[in-house]
Amino acid sequence: MHQHEIVNPATEETVAVVPGTSPEEVDAAVRRAAAAQRHWAALAPGDRARALRRFAAAVDGHLEELALLEVREAGHPVGNARWEAGNVRDLLDYAAGGVERLLGAQIPVAGGLDVTFHEPLGVVAVIAPWNFPMPIAAWGFAPALAAGNAVLVKPAETTPLTALRLAGLALEAGLPEGLLQVLPGAGPVTGNALVEHPGVAKVVFTGSTAVGRQIMAKCAADVKRVTLELGGKNPNIVFADADLERAAAAAPGSFLDNTGQDCCARSRILVQRSVYDRFMELLEPAVLSFVTGDPADPGTQMGPLVSAAHRERVRSYVPETAPAAIRGNAPAGKGYWYPATVLEGRPEDRAAVEEVFGPVAVVIPFEDEEEAVRLANATEYGLSGSLWTRDVARALRVSRAVAAGNLSVNSHSSVRYWTPFGGFKRSGLGRELGPDALSAFTETKNVFISTEESK
Ligand code: NAD
Repeated sequence: MHQHEIVNPATEETVAVVPGTSPEEVDAAVRRAAAAQRHWAALAPGDRARALRRFAAAVDGHLEELALLEVREAGHPVGNARWEAGNVRDLLDYAAGGVERLLGAQIPVAGGLDVTFHEPLGVVAVIAPWNFPMPIAAWGFAPALAAGNAVLVKPAETTPLTALRLAGLALEAGLPEGLLQVLPGAGPVTGNALVEHPGVAKVVFTGSTAVGRQIMAKCAADVKRVTLELGGKNPNIVFADADLERAAAAAPGSFLDNTGQDCCARSRILVQRSVYDRFMELLEPAVLSFVTGDPADPGTQMGPLVSAAHRERVRSYVPETAPAAIRGNAPAGKGYWYPATVLEGRPEDRAAVEEVFGPVAVVIPFEDEEEAVRLANATEYGLSGSLWTRDVARALRVSRAVAAGNLSVNSHSSVRYWTPFGGFKRSGLGRELGPDALSAFTETKNVFISTEESK
């Protein structure tokens, strides 16, 4: 089976070599998971909740170890990586709180009793990307486990180490053997074997729209359940009546965080023409002061890109002929560095239309609210977006008019484990996180019990 070399993106050193999982091994894993799931689903809800809380506590006891692993395999700044590990813990705690509250309904009927049950699906596959390896795996496995399922996680080829460690912590916390397994390997081999396996009841996929589309088509053959979290090309709309200082100070983080490798990156900055020049004056020092360098240094805000191949892809979006409006600095030497880059552009430019997934934003002027909404919606994606204004009515009007799953006003916050997250249009299908997260891993069953007496 193919081996995957895990490379530290900041140093280009090999961190580990991880063997892939063959389709035969996937088959054996599905069988083990199915056996564990039957036992797990039969436990009293309180026992399942307690086991998940023990798992959360085990993660809490290893936050620093997990964070440092994320720094080494993904190049994330250590401050961000600590947040990611904490997010896994919080999500497990939150999901544990849902186990006993997965309530059915009693619906009034004549001649009997009608009740609904939420039953687990069985074995769920979670296929995760490399950009947030740890949280995104947990967004799938925490609610799926809480709802009584077994989970097989297929991490991205470049970043399997944190997911493998989390599965180890689940065992140490006493979760049954086989209930949560991590199967590293190539997408078209290991991932595909999970998608095609008849014993897998649902696929949760986070990644590119191109692969998501293929997976959805394959799942259609068995009418397999699917949740898709795909790409984004998210607008950051700055109106003339906004607090411009605040909007400009917050803008760099919104497209440079995680080196722009973020499905929620606000990489299309739409600025009302009357304040365009002033906004650009404020944006420049904010971008140039974004601290780029060693991810292990707690002061670092931006690390390297994930790989050399990805850096080439990012570079292809930045025209070599036209100078960038703003260009930050990046370390020289080893590591897959790329500087913060702001382009002034047109709505039809490739960098303004496609997901760059790097520290590159395009700034585009607009005249009025109507044009702002039209530009915001002029993309195949609809994941997230921000708007900056002091006018509450406008904030509400524009939030309702922009076709995206997660919008923020005078903020760039998109992800909270207790609020729903997911995309419109080609950004995905279904929602993760939030109060309905567990329901996405259940089937609803309706049972009618007659109370008629025989005559
Ligand atoms: P990708 O689509 O290349 O890969 C994602 C995962 O799918 C990996 O584990 C990969 O091995 C696997 N895979 C690839 N081909 C497969 C196949 N044929 N069958 C089964 N599995 C397969 O995406 P990526 O480059 O790892 O991640 C970046 C993308 O993820 C971006 O487009 C980004 O926007 C998106 N993303 C979306 C969200 C969200 O919540 N909407 C969050 C993070 C990332």
